[in-house]
Amino acid sequence: MGDATVPFVDLSARLRPLRKELRSAFERVLDSGVFVMGPEVAALESEFAALCCVPHAIAVNSGTAALQLALASLGIGMGDEVITVANTFIATAEAITAVGATPVLVDVCPDTYLMDPAAFAAAITERTKAVIPVHLYGLVCEMNAICAIAAQHDIAVIEDACQAHGATYQGVPAGAFGDAACFSFYPAKNLGTLGEGGIMVTRRADVAARARALRSHGETRRYEHVEPGLNLRLSELLAAMARVQLPCVLEWNEQRRTVAGWYAEALRGLPVQLPSQPAAQQHAFHLYVVLTEGRDNVRSRMQALGIDTGIHYPTPIHQTDAYRNIRVRHGELSVTESIAPRLLSLPMFPELTEQDVCRVATALQHALAPTPQLV
Ligand SMILES: *Cc1c(COP(=O)(O)O)cnc(C)c1O
Repeated sequence: MGDATVPFVDLSARLRPLRKELRSAFERVLDSGVFVMGPEVAALESEFAALCCVPHAIAVNSGTAALQLALASLGIGMGDEVITVANTFIATAEAITAVGATPVLVDVCPDTYLMDPAAFAAAITERTKAVIPVHLYGLVCEMNAICAIAAQHDIAVIEDACQAHGATYQGVPAGAFGDAACFSFYPAKNLGTLGEGGIMVTRRADVAARARALRSHGETRRYEHVEPGLNLRLSELLAAMARVQLPCVLEWNEQRRTVAGWYAEALRGLPVQLPSQPAAQQHAFHLYVVLTEGRDNVRSRMQALGIDTGIHYPTPIHQTDAYRNIRVRHGELSVTESIAPRLLSLPMFPELTEQDVCRVATALQHALAPTPQLV
């Protein structure tokens, strides 16, 4: 990808060893003559449910669709408030807007950049119907605290686990905490497909049944429409392509943690804040995000040295044009606002070598120096 010495992500490298399997999956679907909601989708659902240790999974055509479906299946809509964070991809907020509910944004913890449970508790009103903690960068939120607060107030918990396939918290997988959880199969996610896809998981049979209907025009069986739904169905081909990658995801996550370990070693002593790795958590390291002063400068200097980087995300939700009118009290999102200009995502993918990591670290060191030297 590009001419960078170290690309930000390299999907063709990830898929190269799986080419034969991807081709035979394609042939299998072609031979079956079933292209929507057939055996591949059903198999993906049961395999993914097993990964999350939950009984139900409903495959859809994106992670955004999964979030929207989870909210709708839990009966959340007009007049309801849904609490989430401003430090996330915009899809989290968009799903809330899409069902007619109002997003309420709360601050994040200064060490993990994830939802602050105290801020969540403080934002609850009588209209709060759900909370969406986002397991951003692949780290599971403080789910014990968040679920306890939610239970006290009878608030549904929907995990945005779109970056956290296979991550665990005290041994429990992402997706097994909430009333529902949502994952994305966007190609660059820890588990992807060759296009768009997503999946919602739930422990609740009632929520699963409603989600299955809403995913496909509110049908409980063909042409029996019990309520107005949508078409969020996943194609057989894309389900088959995700299934080929599914058995690899835990091993890939392990490699990502190895890469993170190399980073921690190589970046030691540099004036950057490294990702926190709480002992009870197994980080999925979808992204490796550090905090640095002078981020934009550092970033362009690294680019000049052949190192691709990213920013996740450059604009907190309440500062986007789309959500400019959202009600936020002054200082309420101070941690989010203070980290936003310092976030820097370094290359992170399972195929990175220790040598790549050293190159990134050296480039970062030069980029941080008062007068950058060219290497
Ligand atoms: C990727 C992502 C989504 C949306 O998933 P899509 O499949 O792109 O629709 C939602 N939330 C977070 C945190 C994500 O990273």
